Amino acid sequence: MTPVRLTAEVDYRALVRTAISGIDRDRRRSWERAGHLPRTIITELATHGVFRERWAPGATGGLPRLVAMAEELSGCDSGLALAAMGHSEVFIGALTWLADGSAQHALLEDALDGQAVGCFGATEPQGGSDLSGVRSTATREADGWRLVGRKRYISNLGGATHLLAVARVAGSGPRDLALFLVPLATPGVCVEGFFATAGLRSCDVGEVSFDVPLGPGALLGAPGMGLAYASRLLQFERMSICAQLLTAGRMALGLAAAHARQRKLGDGPLLGKQAVRHRLAQAHAQLTVAEAALRDTVARGVAGVGFAHEAAALKLIVSDVVERVTDDCLQVFGARGYTTNFPLEGWWRDVRLARIGGGADEVLTELLASRLALADPRFDAELDRLMTADIPRR
Ligand SMILES: Cc1cc2nc3c(=O)[nH]c(=O)nc-3n(C[C@H](O)[C@H](O)[C@H](O)COP(=O)(O)OP(=O)(O)OC[C@H]3O[C@@H](n4cnc5c(N)ncnc54)[C@H](O)[C@@H]3O)c2cc1C
Repeated sequence: MTPVRLTAEVDYRALVRTAISGIDRDRRRSWERAGHLPRTIITELATHGVFRERWAPGATGGLPRLVAMAEELSGCDSGLALAAMGHSEVFIGALTWLADGSAQHALLEDALDGQAVGCFGATEPQGGSDLSGVRSTATREADGWRLVGRKRYISNLGGATHLLAVARVAGSGPRDLALFLVPLATPGVCVEGFFATAGLRSCDVGEVSFDVPLGPGALLGAPGMGLAYASRLLQFERMSICAQLLTAGRMALGLAAAHARQRKLGDGPLLGKQAVRHRLAQAHAQLTVAEAALRDTVARGVAGVGFAHEAAALKLIVSDVVERVTDDCLQVFGARGYTTNFPLEGWWRDVRLARIGGGADEVLTELLASRLALADPRFDAELDRLMTADIPRR
């Protein structure tokens, strides 16, 4: 694996490595078989300071640490990386940004220490791409809120203590969403069960329904701002997804190249075949460019420059690149790559989610296309000049 090393983050990376050093293959296999991560695993990471140190330099100042965390955890277990991403980049991210009052600040401290574990509930049975279609509804009551609804495909629901739920505020427009902190142990909250998934199998993905009274402190941030909040949190999630994907791509390429060097086909190594060599070289080139783009986007964020557009573009491209890279690497492995004795098929299954979750390809493409509809004075003027001069010559 060649992680996107950010030299200033060597200590943080070492901290994450120490935190996961006790997680061996048998332990990871047992999580996959169970379809759940142990409830204590996020606490274990927190004990080593994985979350507290990630957030010490702030949301954007800590972007290099976000990348290091994603790379190290996905190199260990892809499901663990997914669960930690939800807890850190969405749950802690939301609390760091929006917590108000002693109870919410106490919850933030608990989350940084892994005593509270968060998951994010945006998707509902009727859809996840269009958040303005959210049906879960929060109604104001004399002493707080009543939250009624259902969330589906929630990562690490089984290991979480709190759900950060996106809900519509009763009596307002469909885009007037809000974020609510829901302790999962509250009577009226029911974890309905879990879905078997193609990849990322150690991290459960579940459905939860709720019809609960919540105190006024359950509202995080301002009502009506939920869509804007979710959009910002998704930027960080997308950066983490890209780092996880590139790690899987690099691991697949490293193993495929080793196989191509060692596997004899006819009178030479498989790598001697130009078609194979070029396939792997293309994969290497695409990963190299994508890694550079990730570093560049991190640098933008750290410098305080907006990176929402770049993170969306990056995720769109990296998902596609890494899907093809893992597929090509599996191809180079032949039948072995398709068996569970080798990790190729696992990476191949894992990375597929990225084209759906965290903003499906089509949603991101629409988002990026919206920029093209904006007037561009430089090119609009240049086109005017060219059009004016567009006359036949004698
Ligand atoms: C393993 C896993 C973990 C997940 N974890 C979470 C989680 O922790 N929290 C959470 O809230 N959700 C989670 N999800 C759900 C995920 O975010 C949604 O699947 C995703 O947002 C897409 O929503 P949907 O599946 O309802 O698809 P839909 O919204 O029904 O869309 C279906 C397909 O239609 C296409 N499409 C959508 N919009 C457009 C458009 N505007 N133009 C053209 N085509 C379009 C896309 O190809 C999309 O895949 C998870 C899903 C999985 C599988």
